[in-house]
Amino acid sequence: MNATMPAPNTFASQDPCAILIVGAGPAGLSAALAAAPSGRSIVVLDDNPAPGGQVWRNGAGAASPGPLQQLQEALARYPHVRLCCGTRVVAAQGSQALLLESANSAWVQGFEQLILCTGARELLLPFPGWTLPGVTGAGGLQALIKSGLPVRGQRIVIAGSGPLLLAAAASATQAGAHVLRVAEQSTWLHVAAFGAGLLRWPNKLAQAATLMHRAYRCDSYVVAAQGDACLQSVQLRQGAQTFQLDCDRLAVGFGLVPNVELGRLLGCATKPSAQGHLALQVDGQQSTSVAHIFAAGECTGPGGAELAMAEGHMAGLATLGKKPAAAHLHARARWQDFAYRVDQQFALRPELRTLARTDTLLCRCEDVAYGSVAACSGWNDAKLHQRCGMGACQGRICGAAAQHLFGWDAPSPRPPLSPARVSTLSLASEDTQALS
Ligand SMILES: Cc1cc2nc3c(=O)[nH]c(=O)nc-3n(C[C@H](O)[C@H](O)[C@H](O)COP(=O)(O)OP(=O)(O)OC[C@H]3O[C@@H](n4cnc5c(N)ncnc54)[C@H](O)[C@@H]3O)c2cc1C
Repeated sequence: MNATMPAPNTFASQDPCAILIVGAGPAGLSAALAAAPSGRSIVVLDDNPAPGGQVWRNGAGAASPGPLQQLQEALARYPHVRLCCGTRVVAAQGSQALLLESANSAWVQGFEQLILCTGARELLLPFPGWTLPGVTGAGGLQALIKSGLPVRGQRIVIAGSGPLLLAAAASATQAGAHVLRVAEQSTWLHVAAFGAGLLRWPNKLAQAATLMHRAYRCDSYVVAAQGDACLQSVQLRQGAQTFQLDCDRLAVGFGLVPNVELGRLLGCATKPSAQGHLALQVDGQQSTSVAHIFAAGECTGPGGAELAMAEGHMAGLATLGKKPAAAHLHARARWQDFAYRVDQQFALRPELRTLARTDTLLCRCEDVAYGSVAACSGWNDAKLHQRCGMGACQGRICGAAAQHLFGWDAPSPRPPLSPARVSTLSLASEDTQALS
């Protein structure tokens, strides 16, 4: 793909495809494979440089994880399936086209049907020191390590909630770091109940047993991160005790927030996820409220790779008007049940809403402090009067945090969905006129 791309900032138009899939993670690749035998033209795009999504992310030169390799090999048999990595959606152009941008090009991609497989991102909640260099998301640290960040010999604290903490700890340990603590905010009772329930999902039980870390503690959360120019120590609370650990890195994630912005821009209805964030609403066939748009995977609610694959398969079949086999319906129900248990046992404790001080940044793109927005009446007020959410992330981080902290509605997405070149945006207006 890159070899044939035009010079930077020149534009190419692409023929409309029958099925456009946004997201090349487990859901998107499974959707493509299910629809591929139809012979219809399929484009799968992803803003990452390689397919695999969050769970199968790998650094340059590393072998693809087994399931990703199998999906890629299977898809390679279909020449009418085109994978465009390093390509992001900037805006919707009417209801049957998207404006796309890559490093070298920008174009409007028309489609007959669209499958949204945009996944989820981490929920980051503010606490004093959370913007210090050395503090990242838990999955964020894992992604950095997979992309080559050297952590050998570094002392790392991982905190937050959910199974992703153990996956991040395993990646850090494997890369030679000393994981001092894995602080899970949920209680032992809840985590033990979750562990016992895993008997119904033997592969998850085996995975949990493999990943379990001796520094794992429940009922434990970060109160503050400290350091002058960068992180030097972390203050943790465990039960009634508060103590300090000196460390080089802190990785904190509080579960996942579905990426619904593109779906909302296209008019797809949403529903609240178990944690109270918005997820794309789908029916039993993975159809959204917009007739020719389907959605699968974690943009419809966090649930893990297995559920994403089951839903992706069904969405792919649904574009062809086909019904899934009973085994697939059964698999989806089984993994939906697993997702429900994760939500139940790793629900966030109310204390996490009280950690930020008045001078703690809430919006790190625009340097907006928690104290300046706490008295606002809602997201629009905070945005208009304090510039909260006006920066590069367009409220993806602080909007989700504000929703959790204050119970505000999620920010309404506006194009461009992410920072884009001016030349790309000028194409948008021309094409919008041409398409309308
Ligand atoms: C940071 C992070 C790390 C994780 N690590 C693990 C792990 O180690 N183990 C585990 O079991 N689970 C992990 N998860 C959970 C994981 O997300 C799911 O298990 C699984 O990957 C979900 O599959 P999906 O296809 O729904 O979404 P994803 O795998 O998230 O794939 C969605 C893809 O869509 C792309 N995308 C989104 N919006 C756009 C756009 N506008 N334009 C172009 N592309 C777009 C994204 O870049 C992404 O590649 C992680 C989640 C996160 C957020």
